[in-house]
Amino acid sequence: MSVNQVKAFGTAAANADLEQMKIERRTLTGKDVEIDILFCGVCHSDLHTARNDWGGSKYPCVPGHEIVGKVIGTGKEVTKFKPGDLVAVGCMVDSCQTCDNCKQDLEQYCLNGFTGTYNGKDKHTNGHTFGGYSEKIVVDEHFVLKVPENLDAAAVAPVLCAGITTWSPLRHWKVTKGSKVAVVGLGGLGHMALKLAHALGAEVTLFSRSADKKEEAKALGADNVIISTDEQQMASVKNTFDLIIDTVPYVHDLNPYIATLHASGTLVLVGYLGPLDPVLNTAPMVVGRKAVSGSLIGGIAETQELLDFCGEHQIVSEIERINIQDINTAYERMLKSDVRYRFVIDMASLKNETVKN
Ligand code: NAP
Ligand code: ZN
Repeated sequence: MSVNQVKAFGTAAANADLEQMKIERRTLTGKDVEIDILFCGVCHSDLHTARNDWGGSKYPCVPGHEIVGKVIGTGKEVTKFKPGDLVAVGCMVDSCQTCDNCKQDLEQYCLNGFTGTYNGKDKHTNGHTFGGYSEKIVVDEHFVLKVPENLDAAAVAPVLCAGITTWSPLRHWKVTKGSKVAVVGLGGLGHMALKLAHALGAEVTLFSRSADKKEEAKALGADNVIISTDEQQMASVKNTFDLIIDTVPYVHDLNPYIATLHASGTLVLVGYLGPLDPVLNTAPMVVGRKAVSGSLIGGIAETQELLDFCGEHQIVSEIERINIQDINTAYERMLKSDVRYRFVIDMASLKNETVKN
């Protein structure tokens, strides 16, 4: 297979900083779209993977799965895209497309395992995939999305992960006008959840540890803000919510949130992966038919639906544009919840950097 070398930013080990490196992109096969990357959002999952928080990270690791760019080449069988189109790539670049879940547009739950945009098993190279902190990417057209031209190309990038990860549960649990929705944690995912739930007509509450985010949360679409460390405030919303989207990345006590679910309500985990500590008390769940669930990104058709919805409703992410050279500082700030509300890398900063050997 012939390949092209491109500049990228990645890390050689879990405890090393990200730095410039070269990676290879395949030359176009029939269904491939070649994309010149303009912007890439910085997701907490990028940090988890770079630092091997979940185990299984492969190095060198080039993160990035909130990609927006321009089409610069198409394979002979590509029908949906042409050079010059503004497009996006999210968390997946491949799946079997034949299993029951793929056939139902649920590629994120592909029974044969989808290929992550980074750290996935690359069927073309037998190596692993490299993400969007790079100049270019080559992706099967099925996994390429159309970006509405009326949206800011940098600010739309986080829709590809932070947006779809919160949109998918909002849609699955049929949130509509008057639904009572709460969001735990105001970071990248949390702020998109506020905007999207608000746009669907829900009454929206934010649970946050950070009192200083209160006014901003209201501007983002929250009707109410509850400081989760304040027991009195927590008690004031007992038995209230139809749906809680919990975006907290690290282990935390779910029991106080279960108490705030209405009968038949569901708490959906989208952040933390792993065993719960403290354990869940099932009594309030049984007594109130309350559920705890999880949700992973969203399918390709659902992601296009969201991009179109964002185009119609003029919804984008609140971003802080950074240069690729600032990425290590950005990770440290993300760890301190010091992001309002998503870093997006301007890829011109990588293209303009001299090649390091
Ligand atoms: P983020 O921007 O860092 O936001 C996380 C927020 O959670 C913080 O702003 C903070 O909000 C709160 N928080 C952080 N540490 C906490 C702790 N120890 N205890 C309680 N609250 C805490 O992260 P993100 O990019 O939104 O990602 C959130 C999580 O979702 C990550 O674990 C990421 O890997 C995961 N993720 C999952 C999917 C999926 O498909 N399920 C997709 C993308 C990302 P406050 O200051 O308001 O408390
Ligand atoms: Zn992500």
